[in-house]
Amino acid sequence: MTKKKINRILLKLSGEALLGKEPFGVDPEILVYLAAEIKSIVDLDTQVGIVIGGGNIFRGEGLAQSGIDRVTGDQMGMLATIINALALQDALERQGLVARVMSALKVNEVCEDYIRRRAIRHLEKGRVTIFSAGTGNPYFTTDSAASLRAVEIEADLLIKATRVNGVFSQDPLKNDDALHFESISYDKFYFKQAACHGYYIYCYVQR
Ligand code: UDP
Repeated sequence: MTKKKINRILLKLSGEALLGKEPFGVDPEILVYLAAEIKSIVDLDTQVGIVIGGGNIFRGEGLAQSGIDRVTGDQMGMLATIINALALQDALERQGLVARVMSALKVNEVCEDYIRRRAIRHLEKGRVTIFSAGTGNPYFTTDSAASLRAVEIEADLLIKATRVNGVFSQDPLKNDDALHFESISYDKFYFKQAACHGYYIYCYVQR
């Protein structure tokens, strides 16, 4: 049986992935590393769309816990994703790639508005297209945005790049007994009332 070629992917990178050795913000060395990894995918003639998070700077939920209005906090979180997207765009360009940032919030003096057909055109031309500001709505996360954009751009594959290698029963970075699931269906995950904690990039599954 011949394998179907993966022509277009959507890569979800959390804000935490940009932290590197830094406690907050963006580590320039990590940016170079990530950009080189992304270049190796583009060199396979694969179109790459990226949804980037903002948790290395702000998360609405955390801000709300310290008293900031939740919607304002989420807007701050979405703006944080735009900052990350600009940093990644710059790093990709330094690798010789052509990159575009699109935003679900209008900040069109620094990047393009998200327009689906235009995004697909960028991808067809081989431009790495970074989708920022999540879905543009509060109370969502960039994981939701990644799923949404993956469907919208008709990606063949959605990849969530994480700090751990797969889906676990508990946080494997904190618990050595965490079980690794080789594969798990949506139904199993859902019906076992799983709570997925995107920031730590593992998934809790109640067994
Ligand atoms: N956010 C939002 N709507 C979205 C996507 C993100 O309000 O559609 C806000 C939310 O406050 C979130 C923050 O932006 O916490 C940063 O996104 P996320 O937590 O998903 O970043 P990551 O964990 O991937 O770094």
